[in-house]
Amino acid sequence: MFENLSDKFERAFKVLKGQGSITEINVAETLKEVRRALLEADVNFKTAKDFTNTVKEKALGQNVLTAVSPGQLLTKITHDELTELMGGEEEQINFQGNPGVVLMSGLQGSGKTTFTGKLGNFLQKKKGKKVLLVACDVYRPAAIDQLHVVGEQIGAEVFSNRELKDPVQIAQQGISHARSNGYNVVIVDTAGRLAVDEQMMEEIERVKKAINPSETLFVVDAMTGQDAVNTAKAFNERIDFDGVVLTKLDGDTRGGAALSIRSVVEKPIKFIGTGEKMEAIDVFYPKRMADRILG
Ligand code: GDP
Repeated sequence: MFENLSDKFERAFKVLKGQGSITEINVAETLKEVRRALLEADVNFKTAKDFTNTVKEKALGQNVLTAVSPGQLLTKITHDELTELMGGEEEQINFQGNPGVVLMSGLQGSGKTTFTGKLGNFLQKKKGKKVLLVACDVYRPAAIDQLHVVGEQIGAEVFSNRELKDPVQIAQQGISHARSNGYNVVIVDTAGRLAVDEQMMEEIERVKKAINPSETLFVVDAMTGQDAVNTAKAFNERIDFDGVVLTKLDGDTRGGAALSIRSVVEKPIKFIGTGEKMEAIDVFYPKRMADRILG
């Protein structure tokens, strides 16, 4: 996770080693390297530019007040700003309601079905919830089978109806089934496609409107970098989701999506996926991510 970026940041800060104080020149030089590292990590251009400008202002402003070395000062400011950039504090998901309903959205292959299982597992084990998974992909029978496999892995019931071709009806049936059987949370897995298209958007919009979920999550593959950010933007414009799930962070050596989504889409990353197993889920802690990046 973030290995490339970490190495490059370390190299950038080395420039300041042995320098007695912060000057416009040494800050500018270091931040030029930082910006280059961010761009190579596939961070959004404006995000990278604004980020280094903020760090620069803070570094030059604080310099006179501090006794620490320029390297330490700049590292600390960069750490704080990276944390801010990723959202500051961690964010909760809302699963209040009778039952609470979490709607999953995202492209095919993003890790949506896997994450539906991971979240179910998390809510059962960590929050003591009784969870029902609902399979709403009416196009790919294999997707329904996959959710049943996931349900078995985590010991959760899966609601599906292979006769119905309308995801809205399936979702509604699933929610009433949950209500009459004492489930606390329903997680609705929906159909994704290989790219953003009108039919998928229209469908997820319709499902969201009909079931009024307590939480709508958008799932995206971190390894796709700026494509992840653009897809997030497109989904957010249509369904105004509550939070992002960044999957496959275990394979993401760059970090562009993790660093850009919050500032470009203005929605928090709430969870990360860090592997294929049902346990490979974590709450997204911006500070811990910044710790990782800065070593
Ligand atoms: P969906 O089409 O969006 O439902 O995607 P799937 O849940 O089927 O996931 C697509 C592939 O990504 C599968 O092979 C998953 O095992 C894999 N996958 C999902 N999440 C993660 C993750 O966090 N890390 C890794 N390494 N693989 C993941």
